[in-house]
Amino acid sequence: MSGAEEVFNFIDGQWQKPGGAAGASILDPATQEIIGNFTNSSERDVEAAATAASNAFSSWRNTPVVERIQLLQNLLFFLRSEQDALARIITRESGKTYNESLGELKRAFENIEVACGAPTFSQGTFSEDIAPGIDEIMIRQPVGISLIICPFNFPSMIAFWFMPYALACGNPVIVKPSEKVPLTMQTIFRLIEKVGFPKGIVQMVQGDADTVDQLLNHPVIKTVSFVGSTAVAKKVYAQATAHGKRAQCQGGAKNPIVVMPDADPEMTIRILADSAFGCAGQRCLAASLVLPVGEAIDWLQPAICRAAEERIVGHGLDEGVQMGPVISPASLKRILALLAEGESAGARPLVDGRNAVIPGYEKGNFIKPCVVDHLQADGKLVQTEIFGPVLGILPMDSLDNAINWINQSLYGNMASIFTASGSSARHFRHEVLAGNIGVNIGVAAPMAFFPFSGWKDSFFGDLHGQSEDAFNFFTQKKVVIERWKDKWSRQF
Ligand code: NAD
Repeated sequence: MSGAEEVFNFIDGQWQKPGGAAGASILDPATQEIIGNFTNSSERDVEAAATAASNAFSSWRNTPVVERIQLLQNLLFFLRSEQDALARIITRESGKTYNESLGELKRAFENIEVACGAPTFSQGTFSEDIAPGIDEIMIRQPVGISLIICPFNFPSMIAFWFMPYALACGNPVIVKPSEKVPLTMQTIFRLIEKVGFPKGIVQMVQGDADTVDQLLNHPVIKTVSFVGSTAVAKKVYAQATAHGKRAQCQGGAKNPIVVMPDADPEMTIRILADSAFGCAGQRCLAASLVLPVGEAIDWLQPAICRAAEERIVGHGLDEGVQMGPVISPASLKRILALLAEGESAGARPLVDGRNAVIPGYEKGNFIKPCVVDHLQADGKLVQTEIFGPVLGILPMDSLDNAINWINQSLYGNMASIFTASGSSARHFRHEVLAGNIGVNIGVAAPMAFFPFSGWKDSFFGDLHGQSEDAFNFFTQKKVVIERWKDKWSRQF
């Protein structure tokens, strides 16, 4: 891509320039080159999207599910054909490496594949003769216009935890991408346009928090799927439900990884380093704290420090790079401030990635991997989601103490254990209060045919994204009890 791209809305089958105020330029996080110019939507844009979705709902709801999924299959074909270009734009605007971008696209595609199971997964149930001559039927119908609000860290994938399911179930969709990375979804919408969904069925409205507020307050929107930080997830959940909407809001995380003395050192370190430093630590399933139990600290500490020092940092499109920059100068500043605060409270940087200079990319938002120990239990480095390549070491004297420590924490997105013992793994899996559990897994991201199951302050709602939960979220059940007077009935 060369030059700065303008940001557009896709409303009622048309590309439209948003009518609101200009926002911050979209910068390549590795170079600060301006790659896009952002403009917010106006209230009129939100109204136009809501009206178009409303007008389109009736005929989409009446379109047979097999025809609806045919369009999704066509979209999958176009997305796969364009995955190289899509991966490049993800890397340009988010900073992650090309392979990480391809990885998130793969996860997006898998969700389309699962959503194409809608003819089976959105079936109802039927019981004959629940009373003499009376049958009872449960049918599932679409809920209505669905709003999807996305964070910056997976510019393509996260919309697909919801969008294909909502569409397959007969709901029109409005996607609000993160204002930090709007170009990826814009590129995806060019493919959506090619697929030829009816006007108003799949729309994109660009904007920031104000646009979210306007959408949340709009009466035609019936479901809200949100992914982002915990503070905003909480707020969006409260606002959406106060307006009578069905809501599923995924929040932030602070993911612990427990390492037992019997864990395989080579495998553990390789996977732990990828979990903590992959995507520059900007994954909601990134390892943020490692809890070595007993003598595991003896091999873990030097080895994870070596892995951190060896990680190759640079522009995500350059060959061999394993870690890119963080999303923005503001994010970098926030991470540096947390590290400084932790250090003044007694934390010790074992590997200090601050002041990173990447030749050729001196202006980028780079911080190299950091490993910190001597943490204060109630300090920010332990309690706050850092969302950067910083791994804290918090030694534990027993597995039960590690589990207790995990269970008192605010978040419950992911917890993992590395061990060679089935019994330790089983105990961990049973006791830990988190929705996604890894056993010798560093990023326990459920595949599309399982729900993405955060707990505690990592999730607000009942039904999660992906899989059967998504089919339930995007349909409402109707029960019909029928009696027919006819000559064959045994009794009336
Ligand atoms: P964010 O909360 O700042 O923004 C998310 C979305 O909310 C954006 O579209 C933004 O425009 C909108 N928004 C921001 N402030 C708002 C407000 N006050 N009112 C209404 N809308 C508002 O999150 P982010 O920085 O883009 O993404 C990173 C966060 O997302 C991290 O906390 C990460 O853990 C979390 N995340 C969670 C999951 C998960 O599955 N639980 C997955 C990915 C990311």
